[in-house]
Amino acid sequence: MNVQMGNVVPDGFVFEREQNVMHGACNGIALLIIPVMAEDQFRIQLHADVERSGGKERLLEYLGMLQQRHSFIQYAGYNGMNMVSVHVASREQEDKENLTIVISELTEKCAEFGLHNCCTRCKNVSLLRAATVDGAPALLCAGCLSQMTEGAKKKENVLLGLIGAVFGVLLGTVLWVLIGQAGFIAGIAGYAIVFCGMKGYELLGKNLSKAGIVICVLLSCLMIAGAEFVSLGIVIFRELGDMYGLTLGDSFALVPAFLQESEVVGEVAKDLVIGYALAIWASYASVKSRWKQVDQEAKPHDVVSF
Ligand SMILES: [Zn+2]
Repeated sequence: MNVQMGNVVPDGFVFEREQNVMHGACNGIALLIIPVMAEDQFRIQLHADVERSGGKERLLEYLGMLQQRHSFIQYAGYNGMNMVSVHVASREQEDKENLTIVISELTEKCAEFGLHNCCTRCKNVSLLRAATVDGAPALLCAGCLSQMTEGAKKKENVLLGLIGAVFGVLLGTVLWVLIGQAGFIAGIAGYAIVFCGMKGYELLGKNLSKAGIVICVLLSCLMIAGAEFVSLGIVIFRELGDMYGLTLGDSFALVPAFLQESEVVGEVAKDLVIGYALAIWASYASVKSRWKQVDQEAKPHDVVSF
């Protein structure tokens, strides 16, 4: 692209040299124009509430025809979320005129189809500011702008999260016991215990922090032992209940006594070792990725607003 950027900027737009983006508005609709030097093109970017407006069909039809209407348009498309992109081939002297034609036509169509600008990130229709986020141009609402600048610090309710984790872990524990009763090594259910715990924490606590992950892992370790205890109680009930007239409660009460037997301890210990090993093996990747995700979410983005 061999053009002087200053000469192509449409009226009402500003070129931010350092971020390599033009921003401005036409017919009350804000747009971003990004020079794509390598392709010798300009990308006109429109963020609008396409999904919520009734004008999606007509917009798509219009975009489909754009390339035939103007020979300098290389591409016109919609990303299925909130972004319309129109690529304009650079023809040097004609660039300003061509860009102006497209932006005025596009923004007129927005009015016709009932489209409004919306935030790139949360898709809310509100007052927006042009910005770049980690180098990518965007239109952001005030809320997203401050969130991205400071890093997302979602409020977490530890108590509710803990309650959620307990429910989740119990659910996983039921699975452990069922698999164990069916005669299989239940270790793989250790993954279910950890997973359900984290899901439960996130659901009720609204956000899963690192502390939350640690709580879930500790709870899971505890519950795996608990699940083994319950399994043993059920085995006692099934094997001896009829013979000695034991209730389920009696059987559970007998578990500690049975754990005095070296033979039983050996069995239980073997179950637990395999169980914990399988649980760690199965959950390691998902815990690690959640941990990383927390790091990512907390990291502030490099935001430049105009
Ligand atoms: Zn937003």
